[in-house]
Amino acid sequence: MTGLMKGERSLPNVLKDKDLLTALADIVGLKGIITGNDVAARYPGFFMDEILAKAIVRPRTTAEVSKVLALCNDIRQPVVVQGGMSGWVRATQTKPDDIALSLELLDEIELIDPVNRTAVVQAGVVLENFQEQLKPYNLIFPIDLGGRGSCQIGGNAATNAGGIRVIRYGMMREQILGLEVVLPDGTIVSSLNSMIKNNTGYDIKQCFIGSEGTLGVITKLVVRLREEPTSSNTAIASVATFEKVTRFLRHVDGALGGQLSAFELIDSDFYKVNTGKGRHRAPLQDDSPYYVIVESLGSDPDRDLEIFENVLMSTLESDLASDIVVAKSESERAAIWNIREDLEYIVADYQPFYAFDVSLPVGDMENYMTEVRKMLLSRWSDGRIAFLGHVGDGNLHIAIGAGNAEDRHDVEACIYEPLRSINGSVSAEHGIGLEKKSWLNISRSKIERQIMWQLKSTFDPNNILNPGKIFDVDEQG
Ligand SMILES: Cc1cc2nc3c(=O)[nH]c(=O)nc-3n(C[C@H](O)[C@H](O)[C@H](O)COP(=O)(O)OP(=O)(O)OC[C@H]3O[C@@H](n4cnc5c(N)ncnc54)[C@H](O)[C@@H]3O)c2cc1C
Repeated sequence: MTGLMKGERSLPNVLKDKDLLTALADIVGLKGIITGNDVAARYPGFFMDEILAKAIVRPRTTAEVSKVLALCNDIRQPVVVQGGMSGWVRATQTKPDDIALSLELLDEIELIDPVNRTAVVQAGVVLENFQEQLKPYNLIFPIDLGGRGSCQIGGNAATNAGGIRVIRYGMMREQILGLEVVLPDGTIVSSLNSMIKNNTGYDIKQCFIGSEGTLGVITKLVVRLREEPTSSNTAIASVATFEKVTRFLRHVDGALGGQLSAFELIDSDFYKVNTGKGRHRAPLQDDSPYYVIVESLGSDPDRDLEIFENVLMSTLESDLASDIVVAKSESERAAIWNIREDLEYIVADYQPFYAFDVSLPVGDMENYMTEVRKMLLSRWSDGRIAFLGHVGDGNLHIAIGAGNAEDRHDVEACIYEPLRSINGSVSAEHGIGLEKKSWLNISRSKIERQIMWQLKSTFDPNNILNPGKIFDVDEQG
């Protein structure tokens, strides 16, 4: 494998900026390129500064993506890939000299194949639109998450997104059968496999899933579809201790016979923020240390509801839960999920706001939460902290309001350092981007980081694609 040569970035550009923009416009057409003040006017994403770039290029076809990348590679022009801009780790952040490559116009669902239960979708298709288009076929695409209205299928692949149904269906990686990817030099890799089983050597698509736009641009995907469940039951329960939360999880997972599709934790601090005066209606009293949202998906509405209610009743009888509300309508279901998914109030109340996404064994979670809380409050006695997350998958989200903007590193240390001794992950599902790269060494060994760098230098020897995201090439030598 060839290594990246330090200093290559300073090669003289063969094109001046004006000529570059003209050449890009020749490829994507005038409507496909955004320049000048219009660049900064675009939505920069939830957690990012404004977009500063020479241009935002919006190709309509894979061939155009290929030409754009080949041109940029020739002149060592950095390119930042942008999907729906819903990411949490500033992986789409640009610098003024970058070209942003937006996938938003590659937004066609090319094929829904009900016989093989697969679909071929272009990378820029918005997740929620895709979910809607599948309804007439009685099929679902099981990835579902709070950013569904803006995130794109290509972005979901590039971040290996998780979400609320991982416990039942797995992460994005498990949904992808084939990919079409354009490498930084413009080479199109068409690996549009549509079979579940295909053990013919290395599974190359896996390199690109979760690579955060650093190895290639995903332009098309073949994904698995699942039968649409015809019954859905949702409940929220108050649980007195974390130990009971873990036993509750095992109990309902076993008793629901494979139908458990979501198991979400909310702690009392988060619950109180979202059910405070004038906010969401509280279905349960706000004096419980923990709340869990349980959802089952099945195929026999009457029978499934009966089983669901019986299983939950048994958690009350065995004192695993203190109180339970079962949703009786779609609006009650939505009201329960709003308490978990609405971030508006916590962002307003917890300032400066920090959001974390970590992974650790469920058995270690209680001690971890205690330690994080202790570290944080010993430094900022008025700090605020709330835990929630996809606890059935070992994934905790942590919301913090503490210190001031300059304290970011110290706040991060309270979250990440305790993960070291328990082999936890600094990123369960959001990726590394810019946000977490200085903490990557907690979860990846030196040799793992070197292999990542070797992959990067193989696919992108000129380091033009999303440079500086996940790790700095210069640090890995
Ligand atoms: C309210 C809310 C709730 C969320 N909940 C969850 C959750 O439960 N689970 C979860 O996993 N995430 C969650 N997210 C985060 C986010 O929605 C996911 O990370 C999503 O997969 C990002 O998709 P995107 O299209 O917005 O990508 P972007 O944010 O635009 O990009 C993310 C990364 O992918 C790269 N990229 C994007 N498209 C491509 C492409 N076509 N080819 C190559 N690289 C590409 C970018 O360069 C960047 O590195 C949430 C976000 C919000 C706002």
